[in-house]
Amino acid sequence: MEEETKSSIQPHVLVFPFPIQGHINPMLQFSKRLASKGLKVTLVTTQSLSKLLPPQSESSLIQIRSIYDGLKEGEKLDHEGYLELFQRVVPISLANLIEEYKVTSHPVKFIVYDCLITWVLDLARTVGIDGAPFFTQSATVHSIHYHVYEGALKFPFKSSLISMPSIPLLKVDEMPSLIVNPGIYPSLNDLNINQSLNFHKASLLFFNTFDNLESQVLDWMRSQWPIKTIGPAIPSMYLDKRLENDNEYGLSFFKPETNACLQWLDARESSSVVYIAMGSLASLEAEEMEEIAKGVLNTKKHFLWVVRASEEGKLPPNFKEEISGKGLVVNWCPQLAVLAHRAIGCFVTHCGWNSTLEAISIGVPLVAMPQWVDQPTNAKYINDVWRNGVRLKVDEKGIVTRDELQGCILEVMEGERASEIRSNVAKWKKLAQEAMDEGGSSDRNIEEFAAKLKNM
Ligand code: UDP
Repeated sequence: MEEETKSSIQPHVLVFPFPIQGHINPMLQFSKRLASKGLKVTLVTTQSLSKLLPPQSESSLIQIRSIYDGLKEGEKLDHEGYLELFQRVVPISLANLIEEYKVTSHPVKFIVYDCLITWVLDLARTVGIDGAPFFTQSATVHSIHYHVYEGALKFPFKSSLISMPSIPLLKVDEMPSLIVNPGIYPSLNDLNINQSLNFHKASLLFFNTFDNLESQVLDWMRSQWPIKTIGPAIPSMYLDKRLENDNEYGLSFFKPETNACLQWLDARESSSVVYIAMGSLASLEAEEMEEIAKGVLNTKKHFLWVVRASEEGKLPPNFKEEISGKGLVVNWCPQLAVLAHRAIGCFVTHCGWNSTLEAISIGVPLVAMPQWVDQPTNAKYINDVWRNGVRLKVDEKGIVTRDELQGCILEVMEGERASEIRSNVAKWKKLAQEAMDEGGSSDRNIEEFAAKLKNM
């Protein structure tokens, strides 16, 4: 009864990520932060996705609701096909969900939506509520997309060094990849560029970053728009440890091999293991996989390598058997627990924004191996701005060679730059934690938003 009264006076917020792993993770963590500030939060997923997700625990801080996205049982679509279906079916499903809540004791007051799904703002306003986009990439990358949208930046670029306000000069291979190769995934590129379509109409813009990490570009953006940094959106047990009853911290599409990874790491010395993972989407050529395999073996370090089941066929023959003792290959791991393990010495990463923020917050030196989308820009910042790691160079065929990988891993773990990198890693970790601590810059922004909704 008491619970019912409490939930009926709590403002109800829907949080709606685009259904991909790297967008669900930060928006789920953000949802929990909002709930911890006294809001009732429902994370909205799609029906096709909800089948992949583990059951929700009773004590979860938030509710999860799935809506119809039109995908039939067993149907597989490519990026472009799914996008088309999503844009056609989901607006109706979302409007129905909001209507359904209208006649309950907790009608929806606000919707936080993935920046890729810009139509949500108009839909929300049509049904009488307000909304704000949640940006899942860095503020820098968003700002680059904005310059393209505005027409201030056009490919092919006029110069080999690209100049934009409050961003260091970028080389072409440091730009988000779809901007440089717009023809490869045209609808994905449009989706990124069109994030700028109507964000200026929103009363708030949430960014999964923190003020100190991207201070210059954030100042530039803040001079024009109501930007609110709320990151790093990673589970509080790795930051300020305030959400004590949070006993589930991820919604993973893949099943992590948790015990195998953590037990194997337990048996290793501190800071001795190379962790290699390329996120949920990146796909490497077999030749590149072979170079990684040979390169990491040549370092003579222990290694834990995540190779998704769909990529496993590209490993050199018998690799898993050959490395017994020296390395462990798994299809998916609990990445946060792995990064936080004392045995990890460095992280060879594709530089997805979540992986980058997770490593920054937990304090792990990076070897940057960007693949596509925003990753080359994140790698530039890792190498030159935050200086918490090094970026691997590619050869004339566009491939990272075994010697390059071996050299960079050793450089980060024990070479000339290792101590400078370690001290930068410690600095960024402290700043990330301060941002999320009670009264820190990101915590304050979340608190203010919750207070505003409660007073509305
Ligand atoms: N991740 C994980 N286990 C793995 C590999 C990745 O839990 O074995 C998580 C990782 O912690 C991150 C997300 O998957 O939160 C990947 O997001 P990111 O933005 O780094 O890359 P994307 O998958 O979007 O390319």
